[in-house]
Amino acid sequence: MAAANDGSRRRQGRVWLRDFWARWTGTRSFVVTAAVIFLMLALTGALHVTAAFVSFLLLAGVAVARAIAMGETAPIRIQSRADDRAPSAFAAGPALAILNRLPDALFVLDGGGRVVFGNSAAEPLIGKTALGRHVATALRVAPLIAAIESVMRDGVARTIEYEMPVPVERHFSAFVVPIEAEGAGDPSLYLVLLHDLTDAKRVEAMRADFVAFASHELKTPLASLSGFIDTLRGHARDDPEAREKFLEIMADQAGRMRRLIEDLLSLSRIELREHMRPADEVDLLGVVSDVADGLTPTAEQYGVEVIVTAPAGLPRIRGDREELAQVVQNLADNALRYGRAGKRVEISLTPDEKLGRPMVRLSVRDFGPGIAKEHLPRLTERFYRVDAAASRARGGTGLGLAIVKHIVNRHQGTLQIESEIGQGSVFTVLFPVAG
Ligand code: ADP
Repeated sequence: MAAANDGSRRRQGRVWLRDFWARWTGTRSFVVTAAVIFLMLALTGALHVTAAFVSFLLLAGVAVARAIAMGETAPIRIQSRADDRAPSAFAAGPALAILNRLPDALFVLDGGGRVVFGNSAAEPLIGKTALGRHVATALRVAPLIAAIESVMRDGVARTIEYEMPVPVERHFSAFVVPIEAEGAGDPSLYLVLLHDLTDAKRVEAMRADFVAFASHELKTPLASLSGFIDTLRGHARDDPEAREKFLEIMADQAGRMRRLIEDLLSLSRIELREHMRPADEVDLLGVVSDVADGLTPTAEQYGVEVIVTAPAGLPRIRGDREELAQVVQNLADNALRYGRAGKRVEISLTPDEKLGRPMVRLSVRDFGPGIAKEHLPRLTERFYRVDAAASRARGGTGLGLAIVKHIVNRHQGTLQIESEIGQGSVFTVLFPVAG
């Protein structure tokens, strides 16, 4: 109790000091100017140092005393600063605390358009010194100011959307509504509520891009299939050799569509489960061995040696076996497809640690052409490819690493990509140990 009282006294003290400092603006400039003048008089010898110092102290003392006296008789401010817990005519106590906890920015204007209240979330938008200033000087957003003016003119509430291009592009929805004080006929205050739409817009844009990319990826093989169907119905009808060749290309294109649809479904399934941590305990070496066995025919076809290394007694990790197999498969597939020129792919498992937490490190290294640095941060984006034609020629969908990233996130792991042009690439994933 005593501690609480102490805390409240300290807080009141801080508020008093801050108010005092704010009220003191004029006096402050006066004292600083006096200090400079007396210093110059002392330095030039026009006044003795002691006399200058005593005169300055006297003047400053009088100015401070006046500021304190003004503070005692000053009227209660009707504005409340966002972080101010002192009572105010506009909002106080629990109401103020509630307004300041709102995630959305909210501010109130008087009939003259001056800011009389702003909650904590409004501070970054209208600034710390907005109280008492006209809204147009606190927030330089023309469409919002126009909407506020319209509401002030006709008293009809409005909702508008606007964007702020700098410093980073942000989108807002603003709701402006007049508030009629009880008994008063005309609105005396105007509430402005700002809701940040930036994230929602970004997700919307990403979704639109994704659908556009996915349909484009599907449209190309589909167009090729339709073209060959027409050819087979037309002049290739009686040409068995051409028919065989075209059917082979058609099977290829159908395979491309199938892989793309499988990857799209896989991605959406993983996204749906991303917030649910997997419950099983998995032996990652078992997963890696199974995948490596499955890769043997391709590795032999490319003349690549796949080497798996792991120490004995590697701890199990908490995970979903099928998804972990997808991670190893996608990384090893890429190493084989893009790094086959290096003739060697190394898959290693080692115990590791991150922030004191035991982890298992999975590394897939190839000795192929490598990836230029500027591409590395974007490789896990959907449909991002360093060389789209090369990816398609190798049966790539552009979704493999996006799937890997989502699975790693679901497993609370981390993915790191390192590469040197001409040296090869290493894809490293850290998975937390089970338990
Ligand atoms: P894709 O289906 O095109 O392989 P991924 O998401 O798996 O899609 O990979 C994205 C891109 O990253 C690939 O198109 C390729 O350009 C590059 N990439 C991935 N792994 C490697 C690697 N081991 N070596 C060189 N480039 C790679």
